[in-house]
Amino acid sequence: MSKGRLAAESARETEKFMDELIRRNPGEPEFHQATHEVIETLMPYVIERPEYRRAKILERLTEPDRVIMFRVTWEDDEGEVHVNRAWRVQFNNAIGPYKGGLRLHPNVTLSVLKFLGFEQIFKNSLTGLPMGGGKGGSDFDPKGKSDREVMRFCQALMLELQRYIGDDFDVPAGDIGVGAREIGYLFGEYKRVNVRFASVLTGKGLSYGGSLVRKEATGYGCVYFVQDMLETRGDSLEGKTCSVSGSGNVALYAVEKLIDLGAKVVTMSDSGGTLHDKSGITRERLQWIRELKEIRRGRIREYVDKFGGEYLEGRRPWAVPTQIALPCATQNEITAEDAEILIKNKIMAVGEGANMPSELEAVHRFVEADVLFGPAKAANAGGVAVSGLEQSQNALRLSWTHDEVDARLMSIMREIHQKCLHYGQDGARVNYVKGANLAGFVKVADAMLSYGIT
Ligand code: NAP
Repeated sequence: MSKGRLAAESARETEKFMDELIRRNPGEPEFHQATHEVIETLMPYVIERPEYRRAKILERLTEPDRVIMFRVTWEDDEGEVHVNRAWRVQFNNAIGPYKGGLRLHPNVTLSVLKFLGFEQIFKNSLTGLPMGGGKGGSDFDPKGKSDREVMRFCQALMLELQRYIGDDFDVPAGDIGVGAREIGYLFGEYKRVNVRFASVLTGKGLSYGGSLVRKEATGYGCVYFVQDMLETRGDSLEGKTCSVSGSGNVALYAVEKLIDLGAKVVTMSDSGGTLHDKSGITRERLQWIRELKEIRRGRIREYVDKFGGEYLEGRRPWAVPTQIALPCATQNEITAEDAEILIKNKIMAVGEGANMPSELEAVHRFVEADVLFGPAKAANAGGVAVSGLEQSQNALRLSWTHDEVDARLMSIMREIHQKCLHYGQDGARVNYVKGANLAGFVKVADAMLSYGIT
């Protein structure tokens, strides 16, 4: 088929596919957005391979294996009873047990968890490790809650969730609102109820089966990926000015690695606004931010009172001119207009530390403008990769050293980058979105074909 005819047929088939998907999944905009991005890049490939079409691989891939929804009832410090809703989306286990984090945030809905679970299928496949895709979470808001309240909520959540997870079945981890504290409470409850010390969660503390470099892995991995993209143009991070959004787990370690590699980071943010420090965030100041966020659970604006700089209330970092942008906060934080501003300011590379931080139209703009654009599935796969390594260490009853895990992380990120180059070649350019989607897809689709009609 000629290139032009293939493009026209793909556009038609994508539209048909998406119409049906939206009809079957009404009111799930985030899920529609995530599937649209994947389907539009996979369609030309699938059209040319009738075995995938006959087996309805795309239809099967976009329908979760199952979704579990349950009530979580807990009591606050004043004795008031609260009711939250929680889900576990077990999306696809073609290449390994379900794997994906738990998110605690008031804007968590089934749509958000389905988009995250869907993306996770491809991301986990890209790591080369045997992990299927899943995601879970609740609309509980840990902000402003005491440690005891968070503990009671996590225990109530796990009391139900433990029925549906297992070390060879489904292994959750952290995500927004689920860090070391929450994983500790969740694992403690799993162990109490099951009387089993099983590798049923990752992101565990180092004293009870966690892996070195797990907490750093997503941020470090994202920076390694950006470094690899820059190398394709004979460049590096040395001396580059960077904007980072977020100040949580991913952002903190992305900034740390950027500083290590000689870059200058001028922004970080939280849901209140953006900190802009023209002189660059130093290692010492970053340590202060880490304590602010992880121990005092304070706000990023407090940095300005302590060290100076500018606080951009209610704004995201993208209007600050920089050479590299790392969105590391949440979904849809880069709109098409933000992308235009970044492109106008001559952004060289964007590495998605967060999941789906760029709206679909923003992704299109970056790709059209030939910005080095590292999509989340590839750029933030380092976290789940080291989660996979945590499971391997637990199974072996061994702990690898910091350098050993970091070296494995670096090599996994390099291999993901290579896969993107291989599948993403688009004439003289590399389209990393296409590369990541296709490379992640082929392995899962081939496994599904091997199983017959299941
Ligand atoms: P986190 O530690 O909870 O930090 C989240 C950060 O994003 C915080 O600074 C938070 O600010 C900000 N944020 C959250 N919701 C926001 C909103 N609606 N608007 C503006 N800012 C918002 O979470 P994380 O683990 O770093 O995760 C960040 C992103 O990376 C998520 O998309 C997650 O899915 C993705 N990710 C994480 C991992 C991992 O290993 N943790 C792996 C792969 C991908 P506030 O404190 O004000 O809420």
